[in-house]
Amino acid sequence: MRNVRSSNTAPERYVRSLLHKAGFRFVLGGRALPGKPDLVLPRYRLVVWVHGCFWHSHSCKKGRTRPKANAEFWSDKLDENVRRDAANYEAVLASGWETRILWECTLREDSRDLVSELSNRRAKRE
Ligand SMILES: [Zn+2]
Repeated sequence: MRNVRSSNTAPERYVRSLLHKAGFRFVLGGRALPGKPDLVLPRYRLVVWVHGCFWHSHSCKKGRTRPKANAEFWSDKLDENVRRDAANYEAVLASGWETRILWECTLREDSRDLVSELSNRRAKRE
């Protein structure tokens, strides 16, 4: 299992490559923003998190799975991740940014939706 804080995972690389191909500019790990979102698109004032289902307790099967060994440790840790995520989303929104969350289990669909949304917005401003 990868660490929750690690970056440059395969799902993140996939999203970056898709955005890049579609011609969108982004920066990585927005350090100035709460929770250091995985991708920041300054032009759209939009931040993107690419979430692993297990680590961020997605509502899918993998996200609802909690290890049986060291159950209490894992439960605390995963609950804490969920609390921290919620606080980060709120803080980012409060700073006037929009947020999008892309989930590992629906990465292709979520990424496609994001690119299509950004393409629409780009078309409108041109
Ligand atoms: Zn999931």
